[in-house]
Amino acid sequence: MTPVFLKGPDRNTTRYGETPRFREGLYRLAGRTYAWMVPNGSWGEANFGLVDCRGKSVIIDTGWDLTYAREFLGFAADIVGPSPVDSVINTHADGDHCWGNQLFAGRRIIATHACIRHMHHVTPGSLRALAQATRVMKALPVAGLDRLGHYAGAMLAPYDFRGIRLTTPNQGFSGETTIAVNGVELTLIETGPAHTEGDAMVHVPSERVLYAGDILFTGGTPVMWAGPLANIIAALRRILALDAQVIVPGHGPVATRPDVELQIAYWQTLEDELHKRRRQGMPPARAAADLLLSPSFQATAFARWDSPERIIRNAHALYEEWGDPPSRLPVALTRLGTLREQASLAMRLPMATPRCMHRR
Ligand SMILES: [Zn+2]
Repeated sequence: MTPVFLKGPDRNTTRYGETPRFREGLYRLAGRTYAWMVPNGSWGEANFGLVDCRGKSVIIDTGWDLTYAREFLGFAADIVGPSPVDSVINTHADGDHCWGNQLFAGRRIIATHACIRHMHHVTPGSLRALAQATRVMKALPVAGLDRLGHYAGAMLAPYDFRGIRLTTPNQGFSGETTIAVNGVELTLIETGPAHTEGDAMVHVPSERVLYAGDILFTGGTPVMWAGPLANIIAALRRILALDAQVIVPGHGPVATRPDVELQIAYWQTLEDELHKRRRQGMPPARAAADLLLSPSFQATAFARWDSPERIIRNAHALYEEWGDPPSRLPVALTRLGTLREQASLAMRLPMATPRCMHRR
């Protein structure tokens, strides 16, 4: 089943100035299921789902800022006009999947209980402050701050975080639940803690369509903010077992089974190779860089994925899983420290995408 492009904005480049690997916009998947696909699936270039339940519709994820969320709604007007939005499902609490929620205030907004508890872990105000601070950091060639300023500044530049009011989902679930909207059944499957504390996937069994959220990145380096890794791998195996005819990842083009298998292989490589380096006494960021820059890793398909330097965050998460004490700093500072390490590694990867984050 090949998704059919319907319509979308006329842009020659992605938000980061890359050549798009697929067209941005609204696609018909199967029956009355749709996806809003955003090339190339890098930071904030998150995909949304839309299910037209004959007079009511369901939206899956709402984007990082209001401008892009409204753009999607504009192009989806032919569907959400006759079938007004009845429910929204957030696959997890990362801002690029739920900061457009306020456009659906008053409607049912569903997420896992864990996602709801995690909703305020980053605020739009803190990202606005970071975007401002990067302008100063760029001029400070001390302790890698200039590289962090460039890297984080380029990451946030396409987005406008003004006017966003965090809108928390008003209906929680745990485990697995099925909702029926005008007789169309959607199965919500909790997969977290994995990518984040509260991940979920949405399966539409009647159409064999799966919206996987950020358990799955196609052509992009996945991130483990929460873990454990076993939950990510179990969720990826669950995707294969569901045997959907269309798999929409949280980021990147529509996935095939080999794409899912490749993500499993990525995680298994990290598990084996980083564990080896930890036993040799390498700290996480050094182990991650050593593995990423090794000839054997560079020969894999993962090496050409978007944002390969995210391996550093994954290494920190795995080291904690293996018994390293978690940082005693506030979470925001720890995340900033990881971003600074990623920025330094990113500058050693000038061929990696998005190029604007990897070259000064
Ligand atoms: Zn995410």
